[in-house]
Amino acid sequence: MKSFEYIRPKTVQDAVAAASMPGAAYLAAGTNLVDLMKGGVIGPDRLVDVTHLPGLDRIETLGDGSVRIGALVRNADLAHDAAFARSFPSVAEALLSGASAQLRNAATVGGNLLQRTRCAYFYDVASACNKRDPGAGCEARGGDTRLHAVLGWSESCIATHPSDFCVPLVALDAVVEIEGQTGHREVPLEAFHRLPGITPDVETVLAPGDMIVAVRLPAEAARFAKHTRYLKVRDRTSYAFAVVSAAAALHLDGDRIIAARLALGSVAMKPWRAWAAEDSLAGAVSGPESFRRAAEIALADAKPSGDNAFKIELARRIIIRACTLAAAGTPDRVSALPASPFASIPGVHLHA
Ligand code: SF4
Repeated sequence: MKSFEYIRPKTVQDAVAAASMPGAAYLAAGTNLVDLMKGGVIGPDRLVDVTHLPGLDRIETLGDGSVRIGALVRNADLAHDAAFARSFPSVAEALLSGASAQLRNAATVGGNLLQRTRCAYFYDVASACNKRDPGAGCEARGGDTRLHAVLGWSESCIATHPSDFCVPLVALDAVVEIEGQTGHREVPLEAFHRLPGITPDVETVLAPGDMIVAVRLPAEAARFAKHTRYLKVRDRTSYAFAVVSAAAALHLDGDRIIAARLALGSVAMKPWRAWAAEDSLAGAVSGPESFRRAAEIALADAKPSGDNAFKIELARRIIIRACTLAAAGTPDRVSALPASPFASIPGVHLHA
């Protein structure tokens, strides 16, 4: 591993100043960063350890009813916070679907947003990769594309963002609070991650020194608590990244959908909000016909980036299933190991 400078600042302002120099990176749990450094994929000159900064490990309900999650809150602590899980059960379900218990105990909310793609060619320093080495080419093209994008990809990069947590967050209009050289600012999570275009190495809107200090969920998002699910299809039941995932949230009045929120994971280099599909659900009757239509609309612009056309049909079916299960009602308790999306549920007829 390349040598680097290690700094442990005492305030956010000191951290921002220390991380503003070229080649600096923030270190929190390091569950992704340290692996990347060990593999020679990245080699920061300076690590700014933020794990001891005060006040960033709290979950708070603000005066307007929104919930502010500090960037250093651990994934497991957030998932098991009873009040949080009651208001935002699909977020808890997504957190518990991610990684392993050990990783969830260490990994932080801020780090989850910044985790890198799991494209195998990005991690293999012998492979050409525009994200790791701009202009080098993309060895994934024509290679193993099972986990690669079907939406929003470019000729330069077909990778996906691997987060589970970000999928319901983006569906529920989460906002990212950022502290930077020019002060405090807020960015909707939907606008936080960037699609690859011709600069796949630029993954977010963060500028040098910018630090995520919190993620906020609006009070309005809790209205979906009774009818919401996160479903994840993966190659094994635990400790695997999604092939495709979906977060669905419905606000129902009887069988009429007042409002819907829908997002997909692992289909693009950002958590993918299905705006047009949501619009199609608003005012519709809750049921298979509406869910099938929404799924068609959500994937209307999808195209394979290799040998992965199956992901388009899989994504349609996961949307239908997530909506069907959401309409049936959120379970009273989020299972510590969320069930397979293919499990049958008593009393629920799954159409896809
Ligand atoms: Fe690199 Fe993106 Fe190509 Fe993967 S898909 S090899 S991350 S450029």
